[in-house]
Amino acid sequence: MIQVNVKCPYCKESLMDNEHTIDGKPSIKVSIQSGNKLGDLYLSSLYGSYEINSEIDFTEGEIYIFSCPHCNSVLTSKNLCEKCNAPIVAFEFIKGSRILICSRRGCKKHSIEFEDLEKEISAFYNVYSLFFAPTSGKKEKKNE
Ligand SMILES: [Zn+2]
Ligand SMILES: [Zn+2]
Repeated sequence: MIQVNVKCPYCKESLMDNEHTIDGKPSIKVSIQSGNKLGDLYLSSLYGSYEINSEIDFTEGEIYIFSCPHCNSVLTSKNLCEKCNAPIVAFEFIKGSRILICSRRGCKKHSIEFEDLEKEISAFYNVYSLFFAPTSGKKEKKNE
């Protein structure tokens, strides 16, 4: 699996938390809110892992508001999840690309979006080429 380092698209601060590890890697720290429940959420930085850590008791199927712990900007984008219509949360990834995840607990929709596909894919492969060695090819399931 690829480990991603993401930052806030607004204040450009890193969202990586080296002290709080998940899957043995630094986690992605965000603030989340649902109704009057507010707390920190740590997401695995391994792309494709759904491991999380939080003091909040999640309700399956509920939509949560994600915000930056540094500048408090809401990270929800204008896009809606193509699976469940919940708002999509966007993190800045490699320059010009974003990691998108669904804000609904339990929905496993996530993707990487590139603004300039060819250029960014090659940047992506340069940074992460080690992970794409032919032997580590694990097939991704299409239907979850
Ligand atoms: Zn921010
Ligand atoms: Zn969804």
